[in-house]
Amino acid sequence: MATITESFHSESAQAFTFPLQTKAFVVQEPKADFALTTITLDEVRPDEVLVEMKYSGICHTDIVLQQGLLPMVDFPAIFGHEGAGVVRAIGSSVKNKSLQVGDSVLLSFTVCGDCKQCTSGHPAYCHSHPQINHGAVRRDGSTPGKLLDGRGVRSQYFGHSSFAKMSVVSEKCVVRCPYPESMGIYAPLGCGFQTGAGTILNVLKPQAQQSVVICGIGGVGLAAVMAAKYLGVQQVIAIDLVDDRLKLAEELGATHIINSKQDADVVKTIKDLTHGGANFAVDCTGVVPVIEMLIECIGPRGVAATVGVPPPGKKIQIDPLTFLLENKTYVGVIEGDSNPEVFIPELMELHRSGNFPIERLCKVYPIEKLETALSDLKSGSVIKPVIQF
Ligand SMILES: [Zn+2]
Ligand SMILES: [Zn+2]
Repeated sequence: MATITESFHSESAQAFTFPLQTKAFVVQEPKADFALTTITLDEVRPDEVLVEMKYSGICHTDIVLQQGLLPMVDFPAIFGHEGAGVVRAIGSSVKNKSLQVGDSVLLSFTVCGDCKQCTSGHPAYCHSHPQINHGAVRRDGSTPGKLLDGRGVRSQYFGHSSFAKMSVVSEKCVVRCPYPESMGIYAPLGCGFQTGAGTILNVLKPQAQQSVVICGIGGVGLAAVMAAKYLGVQQVIAIDLVDDRLKLAEELGATHIINSKQDADVVKTIKDLTHGGANFAVDCTGVVPVIEMLIECIGPRGVAATVGVPPPGKKIQIDPLTFLLENKTYVGVIEGDSNPEVFIPELMELHRSGNFPIERLCKVYPIEKLETALSDLKSGSVIKPVIQF
């Protein structure tokens, strides 16, 4: 079959011929650059969708991935996992019958759809999660993307690999977006914002008279702050090392802020503020001493959640006697334990009602400025960079 080059700026529905030639940011090996590279995409399989990417959020995980720090990731690969775009072709057995060519969609993680976790409403813990999301391949191990020399390129990170102009994605990661004009700020709902908000709204579910400590004030932490504010939680305590971020947390709903660089005893400060320990704590840093500190900060029957990704192989120390006497819980939370098909539309409505002002966190960069966007994320000068294709 002939290889064609897609008309990238075309808005009209058109028939695509496969293999389809397109461009993507390919990372050839750990620590190599995100290099704009011509690739080809195989034909859309029955359960896949061809998406023309319009925006992609950038998540800290993308940097961790490029550095080769996640063991289940192989190279060459295309990362990016907060995509937003337009449907250009639909596989013959896609189950979402309302999905049409031309629809605007947001892309999130993918799932197998039939394991015990998927069928009991907790798809973030799908038994195949590591392979199909981080392995960036289909369930049979194949990948739709190829380099021009014929080598496969892992091109379904989170089912969709959004650092690509066009992507053949798993239907399971596709969520319809009825608000195409807002896709630039909705793209990060697929990972970062869903993770922070979901940890509060789906997992911890604090009540108004309770207290929540949130440590690590990036996109995930601020989404958690906004969700806690939305629930009217009495004490929302934000912790970070950067004053500007803490100030933003305060504007978005934190009732107390703590710069842990300037506070010699954060645990005591929190215990004093909450009269004996917080009800809930959320770690968005993945840093082991921070996690241990947050577990100390919670009071009797308190729950501490890890949301940030700790380096593989690290261990945390807990004091089991305190856990026993105080009935503490420590829990890991992936993607806010959300079902994206249900939760992302809820977050879009929350935003539209003014209760989830994520536009305050996003900065859009043209695709040529990916490196600038990445370095702004690394330096912390921007909370949530989004690239626009
Ligand atoms: Zn599953
Ligand atoms: Zn992410």
